[in-house]
Order: sequence, then C-alpha cells, then structure tokens
Amino acid sequence: MKTFSHYLKGFCAALAFVFLAPQTTHAQAIRVVATFPDLADMTRQIGKDLVSVESLATGVEDPHGVPMKPSFVPRLNRAAVLIVTGLDDEHAWLPALLDVASNPKIMAGQRGYIDCSTGVPVLDAPTRLDRAEGDLHPKGNPHYLLDPANGKIAAQNIAAGLTRNFPQHQQAFEKNLAAYLAELDSSIARWEKMAAPLHGVKYVEYHPEWVYFARRFGLTRVGSIELKPGIEPTPNHLVQLVQQIKQEKAQVLIYGAQNPRIPQQISNETGIKLLRLYTSAGGRSETNTYIKWIDYTVRALVQAVS
Ligand SMILES: [Zn+2]
Repeated sequence: MKTFSHYLKGFCAALAFVFLAPQTTHAQAIRVVATFPDLADMTRQIGKDLVSVESLATGVEDPHGVPMKPSFVPRLNRAAVLIVTGLDDEHAWLPALLDVASNPKIMAGQRGYIDCSTGVPVLDAPTRLDRAEGDLHPKGNPHYLLDPANGKIAAQNIAAGLTRNFPQHQQAFEKNLAAYLAELDSSIARWEKMAAPLHGVKYVEYHPEWVYFARRFGLTRVGSIELKPGIEPTPNHLVQLVQQIKQEKAQVLIYGAQNPRIPQQISNETGIKLLRLYTSAGGRSETNTYIKWIDYTVRALVQAVS
C-alpha cells in the first residue's frame, strides 16, 4: 500500500519539475545587463534565446541620473556581460554601482564590458574637457542612438561583444545581427520618407540630446533650455531663448524626463508647441523596442509640426 510519504515524495518531485526545470533552462542563458531598454532590446534581437537580458533604466529617467536601486547591485554581480551606451552617458551613476558589484569581468575596459559607442561618429565633440564645470557631455554628445544609423553601429558592437565573450555562439549572433541590420535598413528608408515634413523644422530642446536625430532628419536647432548639458538656465538665458523662439519662429519644444514647468512657461509666452519625448526606448508601452521607439518619435514629431 502506498504511504502518505510516498505521495509526498511524488508531489515534491512534481513541484521540483515544475519550478526547477524552467529555472535550469533560464540559468543556462547568458545573463546580460544593459543600462537602457533600447540596448536591452537590441541584445535580445541578436542573442535571441541564448541570452536573458535585463535593463537597469526603464526609459523614463534622465539618462544621466538614473536613480540607483539596491536591486541593481546583485543584477550586476551576476551579469556575464554589461552593455553600455558609453561616451560617459552613464558616468554619473554606473561607476559607483560597478565599484560595489564585485564583478571584475564587467568593469570598464574588461572583456565583459560592451561599449556600444565604439566607432560612432561623435557630434558636439568638446574642444576642452570641462566636466569640472558640471558638463554632462565631456566626451561629446552621447545621445547617438537617436540616429538609427548609429543604432546599426550599436547592434554591431553588441554582436562583436557577445562573440568576444561567447565565441561558441558566433554563428548565431552573426546570423541574427544580419537579420536585425536588414530590418533597421528597411525601417530607416521608411522613416526617411515619413520624416519629410520635418525638413527645416526649427526646434528647441530642454537638454541637448537631439543633434543626431536632427542631422538625420533635417531639423534645425534654435537653442536649449539648459545653459550647458546638465546646467539649469539662468533667468537671462530664458529671456534670450524666448526672444530667439519668437524671432526664428521655432515650432516645437522637446523635453523628456525633466520637469515640464519651464517648457510650459516658455510655451505660454511664445505659443511654441510642447512635445514630451523620452530619449530612450521603454518610456511608453508603445516604445518597448528600439525600432518602435524611433518609429514613435518620428511619428510624434511629424504630428506636432503638421
Ligand atoms: Zn545628455
């Protein structure tokens, strides 16, 4: 006769099968941490089921000031590789986390540290290093992912970085990269058509982060609310900016994670259209992939100026 303990053993075995089996599969996937959702999405496109990817930021934060959560440290500790935007985009918050994560292989310059900015033609390159004055773009403008042609470079860097760490999967990474680059190419052709009404549009930005997008799609920058990247404006600067907006007939003021108070004031004074656009994927449910995010961004701007 079967005893209660016999049934209990069977029950536990079933539980172990249900709960442990998927975890075993999961544990075999390469653990990747990306700083931002767009990079996490690209890594999923290239790694497919070989990778398990988490993003630290969610997409609504100021990219230079992502609030550190205690959960970031164990995630970094367990990561096989770390994917970053680079160009010091994350310098205000990531190095401190890496210092306590006890994971030497993902420290800057190590094999597991994948810098997506390698080979990106950098805009707003500084003539001198003035981070001492609080400039958040000491190595030039790090918001290069807003140009989808640079998205292709980032994807290539991710594939190369994954291959460097896991050469046994090189073929899969290369095949997936080729498919993703082809998808990006056809998307870029579509966006260039969609963005035709943006040619010559004059814009104002809160933080200087739209230069790559503007160059790709033909917009002209009138000015920014910030005095310099990361430096809040003086009253004088705002008076000048309002005059400039009126003189040059700027059409749209783009802000992201920042407080809408100053954009609202400027809009009240000048009538300029306000548009909140996050400079990473993931900030809205409809922008949860890199391609969907660029798509949303182009569409929203075209709508704002038409
Ligand atoms: Zn910035």
